[in-house]
Amino acid sequence: MSYEYPHIAQVAVPLPLYGLFDYLIPAEYANCLFKGCRVSVPFGRKQLVGMVMSVAAESSYLESRLRPISEQIDKQPVLSEDILKLLEWSASYYHHPQGEVVFSALPKWLRQGEPAQLKSLKCWALTAPGRALDADELGRATKQVALLKYIQNATHTALYAEHFNNDWTNWRAPLKLLVEKSLVQVEERVPAGGGSVAGEKIKPPQLNQQQIDAAQAVKRALGGYQAFLLQGITGSGKTEVYLDIIDQVLADNLQVLVLVPEISLTPQLIQRFEARLNTKIASLHSALNDSQRHSAWIQASAGDARVVIGTRSALFTPLPELGLIIIDEEHDGSFKQQEGFRYHARDLALVRARNKKIPVLLGSATPAFESLNNVNTGQYQLLKLTERGSRFARPPKVSLLDVCQRPMEDGISSRLLDKISEHIKNNGQVLLFLNRRGFAPLLMCHECGWTTACSRCDANMTLHQHNQRLRCHHCGSEKNVPLKCPQCQQESLIIPGAGTERIENALTEKFPEVKISRIDRDTTRRKGELDKKLQQARAGEVDILIGTQMLAKGHDFPNVTLVGILDIDQGLFSADFRGTEYMAQLIVQVSGRAGRGEKPGEVIMQTHHPEHPMLHVLLESGYSGFAKEAIKERKLARFPPYTYMAILRSSVLVKEQGQVFLEECRAACNFADIQLFGPLPAPMERRAGRFRWQLIIVADERKTLHGALRHWIPEVAKLKSANRVRWSIDVDPQEMF
Ligand code: ADP
Ligand code: ZN
Ligand code: ZN
Repeated sequence: MSYEYPHIAQVAVPLPLYGLFDYLIPAEYANCLFKGCRVSVPFGRKQLVGMVMSVAAESSYLESRLRPISEQIDKQPVLSEDILKLLEWSASYYHHPQGEVVFSALPKWLRQGEPAQLKSLKCWALTAPGRALDADELGRATKQVALLKYIQNATHTALYAEHFNNDWTNWRAPLKLLVEKSLVQVEERVPAGGGSVAGEKIKPPQLNQQQIDAAQAVKRALGGYQAFLLQGITGSGKTEVYLDIIDQVLADNLQVLVLVPEISLTPQLIQRFEARLNTKIASLHSALNDSQRHSAWIQASAGDARVVIGTRSALFTPLPELGLIIIDEEHDGSFKQQEGFRYHARDLALVRARNKKIPVLLGSATPAFESLNNVNTGQYQLLKLTERGSRFARPPKVSLLDVCQRPMEDGISSRLLDKISEHIKNNGQVLLFLNRRGFAPLLMCHECGWTTACSRCDANMTLHQHNQRLRCHHCGSEKNVPLKCPQCQQESLIIPGAGTERIENALTEKFPEVKISRIDRDTTRRKGELDKKLQQARAGEVDILIGTQMLAKGHDFPNVTLVGILDIDQGLFSADFRGTEYMAQLIVQVSGRAGRGEKPGEVIMQTHHPEHPMLHVLLESGYSGFAKEAIKERKLARFPPYTYMAILRSSVLVKEQGQVFLEECRAACNFADIQLFGPLPAPMERRAGRFRWQLIIVADERKTLHGALRHWIPEVAKLKSANRVRWSIDVDPQEMF
């Protein structure tokens, strides 16, 4: 049989398998099946949605063994050439299966094979009588009264099933009765995926000279590739700079992509952009439901929405007329995906901008060391804002509280407790922070501050509680847990860092009549819960807020007068080489939360090490001065960004299997100029019943590392022991845990 058209499609399927799969293109799709179109293909006994990655004239497999494509889903590509190129590059850089990478770029409905077009859904809206009626007149039908009030007070003019599901149980029957009374009507609408143009525009403030200079620099670079780092203290008006530049890009008829950390993408932020920009804005984030995400994605990729604000995965949204990418809070950990396809959205944004020949602007008060290093090597241009934008805000008073030998209750010293009650008495709000990032138990002496440093490395040992051993996760040294402090001989060893819940309980007991709100992963799992809690805090309905680093960025709490950081020791002596960097970022970001309103702010940090040199550098010369010193240490210790790292991780139910697997991996890794550390248990060795081990791979050059990984990962995948473990490769890991 001969074909007169390229009849082989190389297809990516959403499975954790390396490589593409060849299929025959049936005659009916001849010459109209393109790269970037979805197809339905048989795979084993299943039918899968696949993505055509290329169309070829021949296959390297026996053609008689190939199966034909069942159906072409898209007439036109859903993923543009530039996105496909970015995805291919990403799969190769992160050594992750291409199919999973490609499908992570699509919203759920498209992954499932739904048509790539806006889709209308059933929704409910008030009728004129429904709008006019005082709901209480419905009398004893309490559920109907409550539902009608809910619809009348909603910010949306139409509500979808997902809205009701979020807030009500058994809402369908009473809603049907409201429809029968002609108070509510059923409609079909395309859910707004953002994309509204708000009416009245708010006038921008007059930018100060630093803001003007920063904005000018980026505006001059439009139309070509260039990377900028905008380093501005919290409240210095970085967002105003973004808005000013965006105005220019929109006037040039181009689109803008703004990436923000998960936690900062609140309705307030979107409103702020909508109130200022005279254009359609689409937002893409995890709190959207599938229909909203679908709409926003379609509007963005059709060029209909001109600005897209989104979290990490929005990076892969096709934007036909993209002219600028902005990454706000570029140091934020949420830009790195920590499972599956472990990509860093900031790093990939640079790749996308370079391919597309457009500028990319990274903004932060506390840039990542990687970014500062890129400024030093001339890859990024540095722009600085050193003054606070708004007229009220002034920097808070920051002090260290030595807690050695002081009475502590569940991680809070009596001195801090006194301060808390003093601020509450004066009608101030209190914010208490815990650093949970990369938490690994650490042993410390409460009398003298002794910690378990490794005698062979520049790292701290981690306490493995189940076998009562201290272990260095860099070199593998082990020690027994001492009964007394080796330095002062007191029996006063503690594990610093109580959890948020314990602190909440302790404070509730101490201040029974005070309103306390805890904000962490556990208390904000439900959709909308975080927003609600933030709103309450902002409105002053809460006296004490307890939170993790989730709360550190981007939020304005005008009534906060006292910020307490409970466990900086955890960061100072982290088992992770990035521990001090994260800690400094947290301290600076958190301090930025105090004194944003009219009342002056105060920041108190509890520590067993008030003399710690890094703390003093931070307090005396700010984040930049601190970073300069800390980066020197990184260089000496040969850690990233001065070296390139990957971690091969395994997670198993039977402890020995993880070690055996990684030993075999290590044996298969014979490459020049590669250093291996491990296999070793992860600092947090057990999680959810599984044992976690890791092998760290380091090279002086990026090329060397990737050359080795390219040969090595396929070998690892072939190992027999690989079938008995869950394993993954993490390139440029952000956390050692
Ligand atoms: P950042 O993004 O750096 O934290 P924002 O852009 O949110 O800072 O600005 C902080 C506050 O200062 C906002 O209320 C903003 O409207 C205000 N602001 C920023 N720049 C100016 C300016 N040039 N004049 C007056 N107010 C400003
Ligand atoms: Zn001691
Ligand atoms: Zn060591």
